[in-house]
Amino acid sequence: MISAKQLSNYVLVSLLVFFCACTASAQPKSMSYPSPNQVKITDRMWSPILERTRTVTIPDVLDKFEGRHIDHVAQDADNFWSPDRGRVAGEESKERSHNTLRNFELVAEGHVADGGHFGFPWFDGLIYETITGISDYLLQHPDPAMEQRLDQYIRRIETAQKADPNGYINTYTTLMENNHRWGENGGNLRWQHDVYNSGCLVEAGVHYYKATGKTQLLEVATRLANYMYDYMAGANHNVVPGHALPEDALIQLYYLYKSEPSLEKSISVPVKPDNYLKLAKFWVDQRGKTDGRRPLEAYAQDAETIFEAKTIEGHAVRATLFWTGVADIALASHDEQYCSAAKRIWDNMVGRRMFITGGVGAIHEDEKFGPDYFLPTEAYLETCAAIGAGLFSWRMNELTGDAKYMDVLERIIFNSIPTAVSMDGTNYTYQNPLNADKMNRWPWHDCPCCPPMLLKFTGMLPSMIYAVSGSNIYVNLFIGSTSTLQVPGVGDVEISQQVDWNTGKVAIQVRSEKSKKLRLHVRIPCWQSGQELPLGLYSSNLSITEQEKSGYLTFKNPKDDIQLTLNVSPRIVKADDRVRQLRELCSLASGPFVYCAEKIDNEAVWDNLNLAERQYNLDARHPIMGVTPLRSTDGEITAIPFYMIANRCNDTAYRVWTK
Ligand SMILES: [Zn+2]
Repeated sequence: MISAKQLSNYVLVSLLVFFCACTASAQPKSMSYPSPNQVKITDRMWSPILERTRTVTIPDVLDKFEGRHIDHVAQDADNFWSPDRGRVAGEESKERSHNTLRNFELVAEGHVADGGHFGFPWFDGLIYETITGISDYLLQHPDPAMEQRLDQYIRRIETAQKADPNGYINTYTTLMENNHRWGENGGNLRWQHDVYNSGCLVEAGVHYYKATGKTQLLEVATRLANYMYDYMAGANHNVVPGHALPEDALIQLYYLYKSEPSLEKSISVPVKPDNYLKLAKFWVDQRGKTDGRRPLEAYAQDAETIFEAKTIEGHAVRATLFWTGVADIALASHDEQYCSAAKRIWDNMVGRRMFITGGVGAIHEDEKFGPDYFLPTEAYLETCAAIGAGLFSWRMNELTGDAKYMDVLERIIFNSIPTAVSMDGTNYTYQNPLNADKMNRWPWHDCPCCPPMLLKFTGMLPSMIYAVSGSNIYVNLFIGSTSTLQVPGVGDVEISQQVDWNTGKVAIQVRSEKSKKLRLHVRIPCWQSGQELPLGLYSSNLSITEQEKSGYLTFKNPKDDIQLTLNVSPRIVKADDRVRQLRELCSLASGPFVYCAEKIDNEAVWDNLNLAERQYNLDARHPIMGVTPLRSTDGEITAIPFYMIANRCNDTAYRVWTK
């Protein structure tokens, strides 16, 4: 089905010539990805970002959750129910009362519904998500001191769980409204986040075990998963997560125990992997159904069944994580109905509701998706929502083997992800509008959900670059890296790549004893052929010919080195005419990067900023903040990659879209 070309040693592949060798994969297939420690990233852009995240951002996030940066905590906000509030004396006491870990201690000490909880109800979940993220970093870089720090967290979590005979653990609900567990008896699950928190705990247990081999948190997670199964799916009791994520988490738990049956012996509670899958499926299947137990809300993907849904709706983080879970169910069950529902919704998201940076969630109110083709420049675009869209896209590639899903993941990875944290590694974004007049990063937030999600996503990044399916290797992302992949029927295959975004040159080396059986598929991004995202929502002025198709370029018996030159010429991008907010506007891109003009670089022309009708070059000789800007040949306009916004001054003014 795929005509393949064997290339001689170090042939420069002109993609225009060889596009006939390239076709989108049509057969449904299941891909597998190496674990994060099987791929070492050696990339000019990503290595410093990941090292900074590991050494600066991770300790920063933990310090802030522990209340050690109390200057940054909005102490007067209504969101804090600290027992010490109002009678704070001295820094030490303040630090203690703003320490999220204190919630676990209060539960362990036996406090029940006496009004002492710090932070929003989902702070437990954020702590667990942080543990998940750090676990994947630990897997790549063992760090005994960090492990010890997390072990102290885990001891507190375990002790808090022991306060309940069933293993129920949600510090907010226990401390504030104990009679509303799981949102029952007049509670509100959408606010309380009981099931969300529990799902995050399960995910953390899985990842921490994989990183360290320690089973303490996994046992806590398994006890809780058993309780949830008995209470919900096992009793056919219609409780579904008010915030998605647990679907994916329970399936991770299922896969872990299925792949390591002997692990059961190390766990002192019953291990029932099939129940964890059933519970996740139950949560998906019960959406849009109710026996009057809860309002059916689009906000929480609960207004209709997944088979009725035609559009992606509601809170953007919840929605993207929910559909990730649906894709998980499709993968685990091989049920075509779930697969086609997930495909339909992904097409709606990417074809009509995704922003040029891969961000989603147009509307501030309810942090939700807007209607089709509603893509305003000042849109909300929460960091977590882009991450959710990335996870959904990654799972769809796993399910189908189709390169288009990786086109979207690439867009998110190179634009929405590195934007989320400042160059110094300690200041974050929550909203990521494409045009702004006063953009500021924050050191910490009343709702610090984005930094943990960022840690989790970047911890998994090494897993996203390559995939294996049968005797095939897929190069899905262009990120400098080396790996030894286990390929069925072929054995160990060493693969490495080097990437230069200033020139578009990608060099790939493959070493294998039995390369004759091996097929190497390299993703040719859709931006090469004039489409910024699959499905045509944005197009560029890169020359388009009939033969140019995105998809995988296949190499048989790839024993020689391969060099590709991707066309990174700066391009002018326009949106589909149906996007009213972007008519008459254009933006700039090169390679996978969306560019943006900051006022600080364009003072002279700011009031009349006009990107079109100019030629641009990548100006590698005059980097800004260490990255290559685009400069117009008349010298009037300078644009930097979007991910570098708001690093040089307060109240940054910038534009992705201009006239
Ligand atoms: Zn967030």
